[in-house]
This record gives sequence, C-alpha cells and structure tokens, in this order.
Amino acid sequence: MSSTFIRLVDQRLPTRNSSGFAPGADRLDMLGRPLRDLRISVTDRCNFRCSYCMPKEIFDDRHAFLPHSAMLTFEEITRLARLFAAAGCTKLRLTGGEPLLRKDVDVLVSMLAALRTPTGGRLDLTLTTNGSLLARKAAALKRAGLDRVTVSLDAIDDGVFRAMNDVGFAVESVLEGIDAALAAGLLPVKVNMVVKRGTDDGQIVPLARALRLRYGDAVVLRFIEFMDVGATNGWRSDEVLPSDDVLQRLREIGPVEPMTQNSSGETARRWRFSDDGAEVGLISSVTQPFCGNCNRARLSTDGQLYLCLFASLGYDLRGPLRGGASDVELANAINGLWGQRADRYSELRASDAIAAGVDRRSAPRVEMHYIGG
Ligand code: SAM
Ligand code: SF4
Ligand code: SF4
Repeated sequence: MSSTFIRLVDQRLPTRNSSGFAPGADRLDMLGRPLRDLRISVTDRCNFRCSYCMPKEIFDDRHAFLPHSAMLTFEEITRLARLFAAAGCTKLRLTGGEPLLRKDVDVLVSMLAALRTPTGGRLDLTLTTNGSLLARKAAALKRAGLDRVTVSLDAIDDGVFRAMNDVGFAVESVLEGIDAALAAGLLPVKVNMVVKRGTDDGQIVPLARALRLRYGDAVVLRFIEFMDVGATNGWRSDEVLPSDDVLQRLREIGPVEPMTQNSSGETARRWRFSDDGAEVGLISSVTQPFCGNCNRARLSTDGQLYLCLFASLGYDLRGPLRGGASDVELANAINGLWGQRADRYSELRASDAIAAGVDRRSAPRVEMHYIGG
C-alpha cells in the first residue's frame, strides 16, 4: 500500500456507514467546493492524433502506452465509482484517449448504470468521444444505460478536419456518429470544437451553420478555448481565441441571447440563437476560468486520482485497490484527498497573465489523453 494512501487513511473522518460516509454528507475541499463529477479515462490510446492533445511526432510507434495489466478492470472502475457516488458524485463521464476503443465498453456502461447515489437516485452517465466509432456503437451504449454523449468535432470542412485529427479521418463519418447518437436517444448530443486561432477558427461560423442546418436545436455546439494541458501540445497564448471573439463571430449568423446556467459546476456559458433557439456554449477555461465552481475529479486509466486537469501529481488508488483495502479505507482516502484539495490552476494562470512575467507552465503536468478531458 502506498505511503500517501496510508497517510490519508490515518487522517480519516469518523466512519459513519459501511462506505465511510454519512448519506448525503458533503465533503467540501479547501475552497468550499463539493465533489460532484468523476471523469474516468478508460484508455490512454486513441485512433486520432489531434495536435492540441496527442501530437503525432510525440505519440508515434515508439510511445509506450499502458500495458493491459496496468489498466483498471471494469470491476475496479465500478467499485471506485460506487465509492465516489457515496462521496457525493452525481455524474460520471467516460473519456480517454478514445473511450470507444476500450473493448466491451458497453459492458462497463451497464455496470456503472446500475450504481445509485446514497439517496437512491440514478447517476448521470455520459461519455466524450471523437465520434469515429459512434455510428457502430451508439445503439448498444444506449441499451447499456448511457444517458448522453459529447462528440468532439473541430471543423465541418473535410480537409480542415482531416488535418486537425491528423490521421485523415473524414468529417462525414463523425456526422454519421452524431446521427446514430440522436437516433438512439442519447440526448442532448453536445458537440465540442476546440478553437485554435490560425488553425481552425475559420470553421466557427461554417460549423455552427452546418450543424443548425442538419440538426436544428437537437445538437448543442460548444466552443472550447485551446488549453495548455500537458507538456507536448506546444501551447502558445496567441493561439487562444477568446470566447468573446467566438461569440462576436456567431453574431454573423444571427442574434444570440444569454441563457440561464443549468447547474453550479457547469463549465459552459450558455447562449442561444434568438430565432430558432439552437443553443451554443462557450468554455472559456483560459480567459474566464471557472475554478471557483470546479467539482470535478479525474481517474486515470491506471487508477491514479487527479484533482485538477493541470495537476502534476496523481494519488494512487489502484495500489490499495489491488492490495486488499476495504471500502471504508478507500472511501476515507477519497474523502481525505478531496478535503485537502486547493487546486485552481486556471485562475492562477489568469492572474499570472495580469501580473505578467510569471510562468506557471514549467511545472510537470500529465497529458490529457491519460487523465481524460
Ligand atoms: N477522444 C475523445 C474526444 O476527443 O472527444 C475524448 C478524450 S479528449 C481528451 C476530451 C476533450 O478534450 C475533447 O473534446 C477534446 O477536444 C478536448 N481537448 C483535448 N486537448 C485539448 C486542449 N489542449 N485544449 C482544449 N480542449 C482539449
Ligand atoms: Fe484523441 Fe480525443 Fe485527444 Fe483527439 S482530443 S487525440 S480524439 S483523445
Ligand atoms: Fe478545475 Fe483545475 Fe480546471 Fe480550475 S484548472 S477548473 S480547478 S480542473
């Protein structure tokens, strides 16, 4: 058992039930934020090589991905997810790498769909995918109990999209994946576009127009500012197109109006076109950070817990899991780690920019495909 884990177990709160939590009790982190959302990376592998995530020059044939034995099994993931639900999580998101590459992922979905919150409610179960395998798998995922899906799509122009995914994957195949998700009832389908100034920003208006034409208000398009995750994507601040500029460009299509936010912890600021009500979201992680509401934890493919997308350090849950730790010990570790959390990287990055000259990017950081987006 790792020393970090033992230290956390030693600091545990009084145990109140067999999972280590009083039902409905909220463990707040150091900044008063509850734990609500667990993102689970089910594979560190991907069939795309998006330059902002897994640049081809680095993630080539020589890159060592995790061996199968290092990856959490479905049973291990489900056990941890159950304990996170007991700790207050109401939402689970499967991600990666490309989650649909994980063999029999629908079986995992069915295991997670059977979990309940301490008050007996269902968990919101969703998945983020590049869409490449969605046409084939959407119906089975829905049958297994998946509620919703988010599809990443950076361009509607086939040439631009092939260059963005860097493996020559055709845009039409992703659109067929979205068609299949809608037909299966994985609603609402959200589509994420990462905007890189000078690379795909010319696609903001064409993509929004094309999706409205094809799907009306059944699809919610969200624009994500290019982030400095990991250490390999060559991030430069001048390649970030602020969300306010995205909004300005959307006004070329028609008038837009703000919507009320869905929930605290929501990452996107929601807008809609005034004429047909089609919704768009702006995820402004760089220019308007939302750390103050961040209720997300991330579980890597090999069972490390990360408390921030930009963390340098993960906490090993796989060691104790495979070393015979009880549910109470694991639950107390999760609880203890969350209670010590003070991460707010994006807010600090923003204040550095104001202070100018401070570079927080020199600290080592994990890659997004490993801990999940
Ligand atoms: N492979 C799946 C996909 O692309 O949807 C799931 C994993 S991917 C890491 C999750 C999300 O992170 C995607 O929507 C992707 O566009 C986004 N993402 C990856 N790198 C990013 C970056 N540097 N800045 C902003 N978003 C990024
Ligand atoms: Fe793969 Fe998703 Fe990363 Fe693109 S963003 S390389 S599809 S994991
Ligand atoms: Fe949450 Fe970290 Fe992102 Fe802030 S920087 S919103 S704490 S994941």
